[in-house]
Amino acid sequence: MLKIKEKINFDCDVLVSGGGPAGSAIAYHLSKLGLRVIVAESEKFPRDKVCGDAVSPIAINELHEMGITSSNIFRKANEITKVGLFVKNDHAIVNLVLPEHLPYHARIIPRIELDNAIFETAKKVGTEFLEQTRVLKYKVLSNKVITTLQQEQKVFDITSKIIIGADGSRSVVRRLLRKETFDEDYQLVGLRAYYDEVKGPSDRMDVYFIEDNFPGIYWFFPEGESGANIGLATLSKTFPQKQQQVKKLLTDHISNNKDISARIGNGKLRHKIEGWPITFYDAKKEVTGNRVLLVGEAAGLINPLSGDGIQYALLSARWASEILKKCFEEDDFTTENLQPYKKILDKELGYDLAFSNLIVHFPRNKSLLPIWMKAVDILVARAKNDQKFGEIIVGISEGTFPSFQALTLDFILKILLQGGISGSNYFLDMKKQPSDFIEDGSLFWKSAKQILSEISHDRRSNMEWISQIGKKIVNVSKYAIKSTKD
Ligand SMILES: Cc1cc2nc3c(=O)[nH]c(=O)nc-3n(C[C@H](O)[C@H](O)[C@H](O)COP(=O)(O)OP(=O)(O)OC[C@H]3O[C@@H](n4cnc5c(N)ncnc54)[C@H](O)[C@@H]3O)c2cc1C
Repeated sequence: MLKIKEKINFDCDVLVSGGGPAGSAIAYHLSKLGLRVIVAESEKFPRDKVCGDAVSPIAINELHEMGITSSNIFRKANEITKVGLFVKNDHAIVNLVLPEHLPYHARIIPRIELDNAIFETAKKVGTEFLEQTRVLKYKVLSNKVITTLQQEQKVFDITSKIIIGADGSRSVVRRLLRKETFDEDYQLVGLRAYYDEVKGPSDRMDVYFIEDNFPGIYWFFPEGESGANIGLATLSKTFPQKQQQVKKLLTDHISNNKDISARIGNGKLRHKIEGWPITFYDAKKEVTGNRVLLVGEAAGLINPLSGDGIQYALLSARWASEILKKCFEEDDFTTENLQPYKKILDKELGYDLAFSNLIVHFPRNKSLLPIWMKAVDILVARAKNDQKFGEIIVGISEGTFPSFQALTLDFILKILLQGGISGSNYFLDMKKQPSDFIEDGSLFWKSAKQILSEISHDRRSNMEWISQIGKKIVNVSKYAIKSTKD
């Protein structure tokens, strides 16, 4: 018997939920292929997004390919060529080194301007935006996706061949795809305050590692001659529970830390302090399903070491569009056909993100705080005396240097063990390298004993911490083995 194929009237080829960097960038790439793309964005452009506004060289490379570096917003954006790393009683100023294949140094670009530029670029190549329109839910049928949206009081459906979740850290598409709520283990929280009339070199961004918010950082990112984006990021699980306490951490840091106070001078808060959650990568979780794909922060593409995510939003958008091109040619949007996207993420980012995830897990154990702080002191002191080392450390935070290549596990363990010894003078003597230390058997055992004795105080929570470290090491090892085979 002759089978008659059902004729479907699609409203569009691709429906994208969310018009941030990931959503607008994937819409741009797919529209350029001639596909009909609709982006539903719950806010109206130009819209703000709480962020540090630091746009890394890798992100700028993607913007360059989209023609955005010739725009006015890019030309007037503040260029960053140095990073200050501050601990309580010391600091290192490190020059940023640009890898050969990247055309520009990092810039500080307010998100209200950056996201608007990507949105305008996507519109120019034919993307249709439905602003102030929220994706409520979607349903995948055998041959289409039906998405339910809300625009003011109006609720309506859009039919497409595939839905892309680009709706950020609280993604509705991810929640429906994975049938899950939020996993606190994979959450950071960030606060941002804009200041005017601040001081200091406009080409230097500063990062502060201070005991009251560790693991976590404070930052001062200059917007130009007088403005600055100041904020903090930290792991949700180790964060104070009340919002007021969180704000107080930042305001106390601004008032009491001599280094940031010197840069703020008589600067004035321009806007109220705002916060936002950050979700980072869990390689075990799906990023694709039948007719569904996640990009950017909806997929958890954030580096937990630095909190950076704009570059991953832009990269994942381009990689996904390359895979989707083939899916459209074959008219096949099954999970299997979308799987190469997950493979690219694993190959390009998996190792680095898994390694960063392991590193941030160590200081989650607050009972060992003095040891972590000493380890950070050692890193900063070494960066101060060894420019090459400093370049690597800031390259990691900038995303231009893969953390797993620089911070080998062996090296990290040595630094942590150094931190375990009281009397930091010995270790701050930079003539002594980690290798000298490890060869000194008595000191090695003394520090290991100190760490073990701290751990034995609260056995239950420390065993959980150790078991998580074990799991994360296994995860990192998988990538390490894979990378030696490739
Ligand atoms: C305090 C803080 C500081 C940060 N600093 C930096 C930094 O300096 N550099 C850096 O690289 N990264 C930084 N990040 C991370 C960065 O902000 C994210 O990686 C980036 O915004 C991810 O882009 P995205 O497009 O995936 O998501 P988003 O930028 O979050 O965009 C998602 C969009 O989806 C929309 N949306 C959400 N739900 C729906 C829905 N149901 N329907 C329709 N639309 C919806 C939202 O309105 C939003 O416009 C920071 C994050 C925080 C919180």
